[in-house]
Amino acid sequence: MSESSFASLPLSQSLLTNLASLRYEKMTEIQAQSLPLILKGEDVIAQGKTGSGKTAAFTLGILHHLKVKQFRIQSLVVCPTRELADQVASDIRTLARSIHNIKVMTLCGGTPLSPQAASLEHGAHIIVGTPGRLQDHLKRGSLSLQHLSVLVLDEADRMLEMGFQDEIDTIIEHSPAQRQTLLFSATYPDQIQKIAQRIMNAPKQITVAATH
Ligand code: ADP
Ligand code: MG
Repeated sequence: MSESSFASLPLSQSLLTNLASLRYEKMTEIQAQSLPLILKGEDVIAQGKTGSGKTAAFTLGILHHLKVKQFRIQSLVVCPTRELADQVASDIRTLARSIHNIKVMTLCGGTPLSPQAASLEHGAHIIVGTPGRLQDHLKRGSLSLQHLSVLVLDEADRMLEMGFQDEIDTIIEHSPAQRQTLLFSATYPDQIQKIAQRIMNAPKQITVAATH
């Protein structure tokens, strides 16, 4: 078994079978470097260009740690835009299709708040959302992150560029201190280093060069 085979990871057989059916044969470089750490529960900062396979890296971490029988919010993925959140939610559903009864919900702006709050009352395992709308739900009390175990900041560099620092702070304030935090980014500006120092616990940093 090659080191870059998904089967070298301690993933469930049903996830491995699903990856094979999706023709995910080998891990990409960022996946090969980050997944062993992510599956161990470590905080990870992973930097790699667009298309390097970051979504599957954090999704497999989320799915590995998820307890489907516990119907409560265990993972939150924060994305800069509604389009990205929809894409990530769709990718998570595809990677999770071998897991029965898993519920992934998106919480983005541009749609009324109250019906979203009503759907939240029915529960979910995984939330994917944009910073502003997540902050709205946290402030009005319609979203609770008390059972969160994995927090993902996807495209963290873009979120900071877009000025979502306060919203991210609100999300952190509402998250349990005891959690795994994963930060994904295409670039690694000083701002990311600063936020990582504040919100992560002894993060391991992975950088995949643009050419590999
Ligand atoms: P990033 O977030 O790093 O820009 P994505 O996670 O969106 O990149 O992945 C880019 C594309 O590569 C997606 O279409 C995804 O399905 C595909 N992909 C990711 N990992 C693998 C893999 N190990 N094998 C085959 N395809 C993959
Ligand atoms: Mg991405």
